[in-house]
Amino acid sequence: MISIKRMAGKFGSHLGGHHHKAIPEEHEEQEKQLPPTPVSTHYSSSSITSSSDYRGSISTARTSVSAWSGKRESMPGVEEEKPVIQRVNKRPKGTYRLSDFIIQRTLGTGSFGRVHLVRSKHNLRFYAIKVLNKEKVVKTKQVEHTNNEQQMLAAVQHPFIINLWGTFQDSTNLYMVMDFVPGGELFTLLRRSNRFPDPVAKFYAAEVALALNHLHSLDIIYRDLKPENILLNMDGHIKVADFGFAKSCTTTTWTLCGTPDYLAPEIVSQQRYNKSVDWYALGVLIFEMLSGLPPYHHPDPNPVLLYERIIRGPAYIKWPAFNGLATDLILKLMESDPSKRYGNMRHGAGDVFAHPWFREVDWDRLAAREITAPYLPKISGDGDASAFDQYPEDNAAAQYGLPGPDPYGSVFPDFDYAGDLP
Ligand code: AMP
Repeated sequence: MISIKRMAGKFGSHLGGHHHKAIPEEHEEQEKQLPPTPVSTHYSSSSITSSSDYRGSISTARTSVSAWSGKRESMPGVEEEKPVIQRVNKRPKGTYRLSDFIIQRTLGTGSFGRVHLVRSKHNLRFYAIKVLNKEKVVKTKQVEHTNNEQQMLAAVQHPFIINLWGTFQDSTNLYMVMDFVPGGELFTLLRRSNRFPDPVAKFYAAEVALALNHLHSLDIIYRDLKPENILLNMDGHIKVADFGFAKSCTTTTWTLCGTPDYLAPEIVSQQRYNKSVDWYALGVLIFEMLSGLPPYHHPDPNPVLLYERIIRGPAYIKWPAFNGLATDLILKLMESDPSKRYGNMRHGAGDVFAHPWFREVDWDRLAAREITAPYLPKISGDGDASAFDQYPEDNAAAQYGLPGPDPYGSVFPDFDYAGDLP
């Protein structure tokens, strides 16, 4: 069992740092049609990290990975790249409409829309609704990723993964109704505390490992692990959010997407990759939790230098004085050769769970949420969103549900039409 003292009082109030901006890849099928692009221009877009305070995802809309397209067509197993949803049981979902909710403040923003705190008019409970502008999704070629996000989340039910209650659309937007997770992002807690003590990092890493193992057991690859996407529930346990890059993947895939600091070397070097990129990212996450910064962090907004470091590998990392077992596990997760990477060998996730750094973890009790979390968010009551940063509202909610032309009506078939028009 993890022995973790409550750390709540130990976290300072200074909030620094920047978000990792995730890089969305173009529509994965469209990508095949693109003409080859020289690798040298591949990572040169400064727009990748256009905002220094937000760590976002890469986009092949800007950074084409089409240098792969020739290779890909000659590779076996391309058909298996298609979503294989039948492996994943769909859960019955509710039918919702905009008028079921009172829209409240913004909890977070993304490239295609924002996430709102909302309150159900029926049961008065609080939820989070992610609103995506259909035109932006189509124009940035994120249709497949958005449909994947809906399908993967609808298929998954796990204590450490965000729950999706249902989805709907109107003429302009897509809406995803989720549980409101009130404790804010692990990112905020980490930046406030600079770094986590070893047992705290171990607690969060262990819960993430269980969530990843569950996704992988359903043949779902997550592809955007980072502290910004790990939310803390009222009880301090994690909820992995943002399935914008999750997809069904039984073998390998090729799409360049994720967040630069967290990309495995095989993604950076444009090779096919498998679910083991999530285990690599867990190694990066453990490093960032223990040291305060990801291992290859480079202040230059142009990620070329970062990518060079990722390719050179962990031998070039300046290691802070971590617990030796933590260093050993990080190295085994950040192994450059996927066939030797922990989580991706004969015993799968079993190697990760059995690693000596996790020796004191009682995995069954952890999965049952019986281990007390190291930090309890200070929540004053239902609907308290004070753990989230403030965002300009820009009167966004007033635009939702307005009647208008719907040129993308058939593009998102799994988002119901709820008939909310006046
Ligand atoms: P996403 O685009 O899914 O990464 O969401 C953007 C941000 O909104 C996240 O980083 C969170 O800060 C916030 N957020 C997303 N989903 C939820 C949720 N279910 N409950 C609370 N906050 C959320």
